[in-house]
Amino acid sequence: MKLPASIKIGPYVWKIQLRSKTWQKREGKFGFCRFDDFAMDIVDDLPPLFKAEIVHHEIGHAIWWTYNLDSREREERAIMSLSRGYIDLWADNPELLRWFAAQLPSS
Ligand SMILES: [Zn+2]
Repeated sequence: MKLPASIKIGPYVWKIQLRSKTWQKREGKFGFCRFDDFAMDIVDDLPPLFKAEIVHHEIGHAIWWTYNLDSREREERAIMSLSRGYIDLWADNPELLRWFAAQLPSS
């Protein structure tokens, strides 16, 4: 299943830009949330669960920004802990994730 090319968070549409290992080495990161042009950089070639954590992490930054939360340092620590917690939850309880998906309105 492919990662969507764009996602909607609150009133905004964010482009997801897949990046190479070369980008990862140059930038020293696996993902980045660019608030100035509503885009997220995500390294493409990563183990599936780690890539899911990175996507979740960058979405967390976008949510933090969109809903006007504060403080850069607390943001980084909070999002890292939340991302790992959710990834662990989904990996260990796939039936719960399917249940959440089933609660969404069908489009
Ligand atoms: Zn971060």
